[in-house]
Amino acid sequence: MQKVAISACLLGQQCRYDGRENRDVVLLERLKDKTLIPFCPEDFCYGTPRPTMDLVETAEGVRALSNQTGTDLSAPVIAYAEAFFAAHPDIDLLIGKDRSPSCGVCSAKRYSPDKTLLSEAATGLMAAVAREKGVRCWDAEAYALKA
Ligand code: SF4
Repeated sequence: MQKVAISACLLGQQCRYDGRENRDVVLLERLKDKTLIPFCPEDFCYGTPRPTMDLVETAEGVRALSNQTGTDLSAPVIAYAEAFFAAHPDIDLLIGKDRSPSCGVCSAKRYSPDKTLLSEAATGLMAAVAREKGVRCWDAEAYALKA
């Protein structure tokens, strides 16, 4: 059976920054014959609820900065992603929540340091690690609609 890593909020886990979830019944119907392995790097690293973060193009590359303090929150999220894929080396597919700076595949916003919007098709930190490892990745909304 195909193993699918999936943003936990899409399964109904209340791990969003605001303590809510993003359960997607259409998506879950499409995935009913697959083994789902949920992940939520932000809940693991920073708890729920938590301040939001944005992807920002910095001198050190694209980093996730806290919208509350400006602190670089990237390293724990990347470490979580590395540990997740080390623990699950046989993942066939990742499905990430659209627009998340951690989980979005090609739907996250990326800003300049002065918060000018540079892209709405950026890759979140966890999805970027998945891609580096050769894992096929889809944004949830596109996967739910694909033929
Ligand atoms: S989008 Fe990702 S980081 Fe955000 S709540 Fe969902 S699983 Fe967690």
